[in-house]
Amino acid sequence: MKSPRTRRSACLPLVVLLTALVVAGCDRGRLPKPAASPTTTQAAAAAPETLPEPTLEDNPLHRDIRLPPMHCELPQVDSNAASQQRFVQAAIDCLNDSWLPVLRAAGALTAWAGAERPALRIIDRLGLLDCAGEQVQPTDSQAFYCAGSIFWPTEGRGGVWIPDRGNWTAREAYRAHTLFVVMHEYGHHVQELTGIERRADLDKSVTGWDSESGLRTSRRAEQQAQCLGGVATAAAKLGGTVSPREADYMIAVQEMVAEERIHGTAASSLRWSEAGYHSASTSSCNTWTAPPSEVE
Ligand SMILES: [Zn+2]
Repeated sequence: MKSPRTRRSACLPLVVLLTALVVAGCDRGRLPKPAASPTTTQAAAAAPETLPEPTLEDNPLHRDIRLPPMHCELPQVDSNAASQQRFVQAAIDCLNDSWLPVLRAAGALTAWAGAERPALRIIDRLGLLDCAGEQVQPTDSQAFYCAGSIFWPTEGRGGVWIPDRGNWTAREAYRAHTLFVVMHEYGHHVQELTGIERRADLDKSVTGWDSESGLRTSRRAEQQAQCLGGVATAAAKLGGTVSPREADYMIAVQEMVAEERIHGTAASSLRWSEAGYHSASTSSCNTWTAPPSEVE
């Protein structure tokens, strides 16, 4: 059975660094169809229409799931398209190897999800894009997640404003920002695999995407992606993929995210990315049970 599908049109920057910025991310919601190839043996026996809907508050993702130390040698990255593609794909490969085994072991993968490994779709010019069978028109150069794909625009990502946090070179700052954006987008993929994305989209389709309730649901999803990015950052630090200094920087600059109603305040974004980073556990990323004041 094919599910109804919708999407929201807004896609605002995750990170806006006061001047020309650089990296950002978001998620374009939609209702995915049931997976053609269910990801669990148990679910494979069930017709899609009989699959239980995934849950938010008590989703298995909120158990104490921890990533192994992440030992990945990521290339350098700069603003040219080929360099970005190499770096982002390498980071996604690294995150696949880290996240997928632990999610599988925790029984957190749902049959509603599609491919376990997200596709990277490099966008070399802004125009209409296919997103889960719908045409979307990105209005900026922000990365976003949709239906199993991480969309990565390569234009307009050249300028880097370096916060006053030590002797950072532009290349170091760019690499750290870019890596956290990949981790955030992969956080949306984790939500997809665990059914959270589907459940949240269903809720928003009922309450209205732009209603207060719908926007709060969006913020819970975005801030959970921040938290999952923090969990990944902790594992990257533990395994030497990034230095402790880089890891601290990746988290600290989250206080500079753009403040808007879909992603929420900078304070909330920082709070949730720190929660994942300091705990290194997905159990600290349950934004779905947090009071509204913590997901503003
Ligand atoms: Zn996002």
